[in-house]
Amino acid sequence: MPIKVLSDDLASRIAAGEVVERPASVIKELVENSIDAGSSRVVIELVDGGAKSITVTDNGHGIPAGELPFAFERFATSKIDENSDLIAIGTLGFRGEALPSIASVSRVTAVSRSVESDSGARLVIDFGDKHSLEKTGAPVGTRIQVDGLFQNVPARLKFMGSPGKEVSRVQAMLGSLALVYPDIAFTLVSDSRERLKTTGTGKLEDAVRSVYGSKIADQMLSLEPEEQSAFSVDGLISSPSINRSNRNYITLAVNGRTIQSRRLTYAVEQAYHGFLPERRFPIAVVRIQTPLSDVDANVHPAKSEVRFLREDLVYALVQRSIRGLLNASAPVHELGIGRTSGVGLLRPVGGSTPGSRTAMSSGSVSTWPTPEEPVQSALDHENVTKNESSNATESGSFSGTPRETLPVLRVVGQTHETYIVCEGPEGIYLVDQHAAHERVTYDQLQDTFSNRSPDSQALLEPAVIELAPGMLTVVQEHLEELGKVGWDAEIFGANSIVIRSIPGALSTRASSDGAGQMFINVLDELTQGGTGQSWVDRMLATVACHSSVRAGQTLPIEDAKSLLRQLEKTTHPNTCPHGRPTLIQLSVNDLEREFKRR
Ligand code: ADP
Ligand code: MG
Repeated sequence: MPIKVLSDDLASRIAAGEVVERPASVIKELVENSIDAGSSRVVIELVDGGAKSITVTDNGHGIPAGELPFAFERFATSKIDENSDLIAIGTLGFRGEALPSIASVSRVTAVSRSVESDSGARLVIDFGDKHSLEKTGAPVGTRIQVDGLFQNVPARLKFMGSPGKEVSRVQAMLGSLALVYPDIAFTLVSDSRERLKTTGTGKLEDAVRSVYGSKIADQMLSLEPEEQSAFSVDGLISSPSINRSNRNYITLAVNGRTIQSRRLTYAVEQAYHGFLPERRFPIAVVRIQTPLSDVDANVHPAKSEVRFLREDLVYALVQRSIRGLLNASAPVHELGIGRTSGVGLLRPVGGSTPGSRTAMSSGSVSTWPTPEEPVQSALDHENVTKNESSNATESGSFSGTPRETLPVLRVVGQTHETYIVCEGPEGIYLVDQHAAHERVTYDQLQDTFSNRSPDSQALLEPAVIELAPGMLTVVQEHLEELGKVGWDAEIFGANSIVIRSIPGALSTRASSDGAGQMFINVLDELTQGGTGQSWVDRMLATVACHSSVRAGQTLPIEDAKSLLRQLEKTTHPNTCPHGRPTLIQLSVNDLEREFKRR
């Protein structure tokens, strides 16, 4: 065929394929238009997962009757003009493609009344065919109804999921929009059932409550933006006690635009490193503000990805603010938290509450009668310096951020050959000896690693081990890192390696586990994947796990004390390297309540 310019109709349908993929993408475009129009209330109704009909109604500024037909022309927009800078765009839409695209693959009924007009107008576009404009009564705002989506594009229809699937996609997409716009009240109704309703109070916490429920909303930590800064981050992030098995609960927005970004998602994960178990992810709403000219939104058909002028800066900012908040608020895991209600009612006047963990963790030694044998002052000088240096190697410099500390604890004894029982300022504390030791060893290994002075123990007899297919490559790739922790391993033939020395930390246990077996265990755990942690960190955590005192081991009281002393010097004494708690607390309040003392 000779080269021809495509007809407008065909060109629109091709363009539509880029913008509207499924009901969720139609709704995203329509709702973004509502947001751009300054709406404070948006109602979305679906019939049959959107296949039969989608209606979006808003109370925004509306479209003047005379302009309504233009809204459905390709590349017709009121949001940019010749003088606009295509980079610095403050609205969600700007290409003028959505409405014509949607109208070319469905039957659209648009009713709108602009704020300046006392009547509305209705326009029907039947799979690209514009009917004549009619005058009609309508409230200020816009209502767009989309019927029979993709009826003229059988190929698209085939890719539609079941109504239930499409509804959950819509719900997820609207959920993130609602989180980014807490000042807009969103309602989603599917087949007459309400699926999402936010209140539009403007408080992010209320939006989280509506989208994820009260239990989660109550445990979110608030990211406060740094004042008067061109780049800032605010939002809510989950405390480490609640987490999820996937990343779907991490919502990112830049200048009001929800975005997908593997890199920034990773920045969030990294910030939680050490606070969460492996392969667990936080719930987070992270709203980034940058100068508009720093972001190019015009790089993705659905505008769901953006390009940053200074991505590294944004990455560091996100990671640093989340990490700082976590470090500052890292709670001691309180026993039975949420188990009883009405705790607040029993709070003694002027006394501390079970929730006053911040006061405790900043080392409020003076309000606590000096224990008979305090393990160590929580504000020990050495601690602070050590903390700063190890944090700096981990994720940039955090000088000035409050550090995670242990309460001052007095060891009472050991129970079940697993837990160290302690008395502390706010009650009874139980320390998991394995988790605590793991944290201590992990920090030591990390020191060794960054100082490049492996503490290595030569084996009397080198161990030759056979590796599963593929494992050799893993070893080969990481020989240097393995060496830095103290493994001296050498490739030996097609499938085997020989191990001549092992990390010093493992030497006391190697005899029971067998050096070779230990190496295989470490490799296995490492290759099982796991995200948010680098290979090295995971290796250190695995080695720490294998070299730490186990549950079921008797610990003399002196050893228990020394373990706590060491734990106190670590960067994150409240969690083990996998993110599990090292200690839990039974608060004085709980005790008094349970014993009916008050
Ligand atoms: P874009 O959003 O990229 O400008 P659209 O095709 O989505 O392109 O919309 C075209 C135009 O129609 C918009 O620029 C806006 O002027 C108008 N419009 C669309 N939806 C609404 C709405 N809900 N309220 C007010 N104006 C709207
Ligand atoms: Mg638009």
